[in-house]
Amino acid sequence: MVTTSLALTTSVAAVIKDGVAVPVATAGDTVEVILAETPFYAESGGQDADTGEIRGANATLHVIDVQKPVADVIVHTVTVTEGEVAAGDQVSAEVDRVNRHQASKAHSATHLIHAALHETLGTDANQAGSYNKPGYMRLDFSWRNPVTAMAREEIEGIANRAIREELPVSTNVMNLDEAKNLGAMALFGEKYGDRVRVVEIGGPFSRELCAGTHVANSSQIGLLTVTSEGSVGSGARRIEALVGADAFSHLAAERSIVAELTSTLKARPEEPERPHRRTAHAPVRRGEATRPVPPAGDAAGGGPTGGDRNRGQRGAPGGARVGDRGRRRRPAHARDGRPHPPWRREARGGRGIGRGRWPSPGGHRDQRSRP
Ligand SMILES: [Zn+2]
Repeated sequence: MVTTSLALTTSVAAVIKDGVAVPVATAGDTVEVILAETPFYAESGGQDADTGEIRGANATLHVIDVQKPVADVIVHTVTVTEGEVAAGDQVSAEVDRVNRHQASKAHSATHLIHAALHETLGTDANQAGSYNKPGYMRLDFSWRNPVTAMAREEIEGIANRAIREELPVSTNVMNLDEAKNLGAMALFGEKYGDRVRVVEIGGPFSRELCAGTHVANSSQIGLLTVTSEGSVGSGARRIEALVGADAFSHLAAERSIVAELTSTLKARPEEPERPHRRTAHAPVRRGEATRPVPPAGDAAGGGPTGGDRNRGQRGAPGGARVGDRGRRRRPAHARDGRPHPPWRREARGGRGIGRGRWPSPGGHRDQRSRP
């Protein structure tokens, strides 16, 4: 049985070594342990397993992996660091809270990237697999065309804007039909019961069927940086990103490289001219408005404020949220310059991002993608 608590007192139901139940395991052994109740999250839904410790009167166990081979059976792979543990022992089981929080950040970041993909490319960019662990996420999606550098920047920009906008995260259990009516993104190929868990980030901005763990507010993710995007097979692409402190470390390392290169080349580390970004929808350089700035007090306006140079930032109360296309021009590159389909025009009326329809069959979202 799984609980929502991160620590609890329970008992050892079984100790398994090399696939066989054994009465006892001793220091130095790596064994599998089943508990009567567990606070540990087993790897599922693309999210890596919890780590932590199990302590008994006579033993300390370090939990290195948690799997759910069949429904309702959770198996902890542990190393016995001291003492010995036996079936029937009373133990305290405690999840590594920092690790769990970092994992939750990465999982929530995966949902933001998925929402940003729909926003940028459209709902045909269906998630086909995902994997996330502390500091890292990847998401595979169905898409036949190359994704331009500009689209990649936009995906990253939308996800980071969602982080800055401090969107609340909520989970609700509801009937499957109710979730479909809300436009929650589901995984075809996954079997769902009548009751499903829907995770929302910023209401309709991101609404997915998901059993994973999440932050309470998007701002807790801190920062996200896309590190790669490319083809992983016919009609399939993968986007990878670092999250939180790992994202910062990556950007800081890149800054060091740029400093070194500019020193070697005796060049000035200025932002280069990037004529391809000088389009109506693209972010522009400091001091330039992304579009004509309406008169003060116009809630539909809200030009750049503070140090935030991205388009569509929040302005006056009632101004745009992440998903408000009314304040952003659609990128022509995303859909080859074709006119916006009807659902996109609908979305201007306040619907969520990419919620025009239930995804088409064939996807396998929220399952661990192949490495
Ligand atoms: Zn999820």
